[in-house]
Amino acid sequence: MRKRLALCLALCMLLAGCGFQTECQKHSITLFGTFDTVVTLTGYASEKSFQQEAGKVREMLEYYSMVFDAYQEYDGMNNLCTLNRLGGQAAVTVPEPLADVILQCQRLAQDVDGGTNIALGSVLFLWHDFREAYAKNPENASLPDERTLQLAAEHTCLTDVTVDEAASTVRYEDAALKLDLGAVAKGYAAQKIAEMLLKSDMPSFLLSLGGNVVAGEAPLDGRAFWSVGVQDPSDQYGATLDVVFVTERSVVTSGDYQRYCLIDGTRYHHIIDPETLYPAQYVRAVTVVCQDAFLADYLSTALFLMPPEQGMTLVETLENVEALWVTQDNTVQMTPGMKEIAQSQGANAHRLAGE
Ligand code: AMP
Ligand code: MG
Repeated sequence: MRKRLALCLALCMLLAGCGFQTECQKHSITLFGTFDTVVTLTGYASEKSFQQEAGKVREMLEYYSMVFDAYQEYDGMNNLCTLNRLGGQAAVTVPEPLADVILQCQRLAQDVDGGTNIALGSVLFLWHDFREAYAKNPENASLPDERTLQLAAEHTCLTDVTVDEAASTVRYEDAALKLDLGAVAKGYAAQKIAEMLLKSDMPSFLLSLGGNVVAGEAPLDGRAFWSVGVQDPSDQYGATLDVVFVTERSVVTSGDYQRYCLIDGTRYHHIIDPETLYPAQYVRAVTVVCQDAFLADYLSTALFLMPPEQGMTLVETLENVEALWVTQDNTVQMTPGMKEIAQSQGANAHRLAGE
């Protein structure tokens, strides 16, 4: 009797939350042109609500990808590119999210002992320029030389960045310092979008922004969880290595297969070890699952920049953070909590919450 009552109640809530059941269907859209990546949004809603929410997502993506763009400036805003040009001369008034993300990274740098340093820009831009040159003309592209990297590394101290939160201004105390937000910008934007969607008419959604995935409330098709694939770094066609089942969680991956060039068998990828100033060699990929997409993005880069054993110890100190490592020899390691949500360890999407 109780069970039937609970079922009726759940059905009523479902109908109330989504208009009539028949109107509430699964929709998907792929969005191009922001963050240099492909974005997909899936949601359970009426056609009208989905279009509305997808429109808002598109607007937010466009806004955040302009704010965090390190390579191009835009009329009417002092974005990251403007800040890098002027921040060494004077305090620059920036959009609130830009000041916020820098402050959050400064706070995290104190708590998390890892290699994610958004002030590594002067070094990262040398590697970016190399990858760009290589893509255009491999014959003429030369690797950044050791001396140039060392000189650039002298201007990478995050405490040299002063943020005035109230005034929303940022100033660099070191005129040669540059910020690069590639490690966190997508996660920050994904988190803001997720917060908006959770309060909207479409709280049941899955947003995928490059290697950053955020799951909203459970899908409205009877499954208790969304399924999120973890890519196999060694498969050139991007096959899935495992699947994790989540609701209201972020799943973020940093991997050496995302942006790289292969020269004489050496993979020069995009995540740079601040100790060596060369692409990090500890692992092939790290996936982090936690509630906040920004934190997950910060941590996935940080864990990529240390040996898995050290990463495991770090994750143990953090609450509600799970991680999966794919090591250089392609073996997989997981935290105990990750094992509980991984398909390879027996988890599936049909478990009903509480059962
Ligand atoms: P992710 O894919 O989230 O790990 O971020 C990779 C991006 O972060 C790169 O494309 C760079 O823009 C930036 N990046 C690379 N190395 C570092 C580092 N050591 N600290 C901070 N950002 C980095
Ligand atoms: Mg990251």
